Amino acid sequence: MARYKDEQCRICRREGQKLFLKGTRCYSDKCSISRRNYAPGQNGQKKKKLSEYGTQLREKQKTKAFYGVSEKQFRKYFDMASKSKGKTGEVLLQILESRLDNVVYRLGLASSRAQARMQVTHGAFEVNGQKLDIPSYLVKAGDVIAVREIRKDNGTIKLSVEENASRPVPAWLEKDTEKLSGKVVTLASREDVDLPVEEHLIVELYSK
Ligand code: SF4
Repeated sequence: MARYKDEQCRICRREGQKLFLKGTRCYSDKCSISRRNYAPGQNGQKKKKLSEYGTQLREKQKTKAFYGVSEKQFRKYFDMASKSKGKTGEVLLQILESRLDNVVYRLGLASSRAQARMQVTHGAFEVNGQKLDIPSYLVKAGDVIAVREIRKDNGTIKLSVEENASRPVPAWLEKDTEKLSGKVVTLASREDVDLPVEEHLIVELYSK
């Protein structure tokens, strides 16, 4: 099935926020949110008042799109978070941040989470010296994530590293640009998550 070429930008426009789904374009003035910050479609420019359910649903959809996870995975993470001792919404965000594809993106070793996911699946990364091709792997404090030696000359990875050299790396990660690697210093806290989301609305949605 043909995919609408600006499909990812339409998701951002629907949520009214930059969700950084398209790599370097998201940081340029070509970003659709900078140019047309209203929902897609004929009635996109009309302001709609959302119901309580609608508001909760939008927060969930936005978070799912930001991390690029399916409904099934997202629900699984929510169940894990709700069984933990911490605040469910905050733990949910911490779990999402801990995904290997997100960590690869955060370290600037890929231009988007989607690209990171593809590179991980294609076996370009190792964790603690072992090849790991599971994008949903949840990292732990102390884990070292690196581009595998045989992939260090990969053109896409080289370009991503170059293009994302100035993108700030969050404090919970430590990047080694020379070695094309990074270390998980500690797990992400709520303050480390740069997605403007009211996670308590997601908790309310799933608690109905
Ligand atoms: Fe498109 Fe990226 Fe801008 Fe979203 S942030 S509208 S994906 S360019």
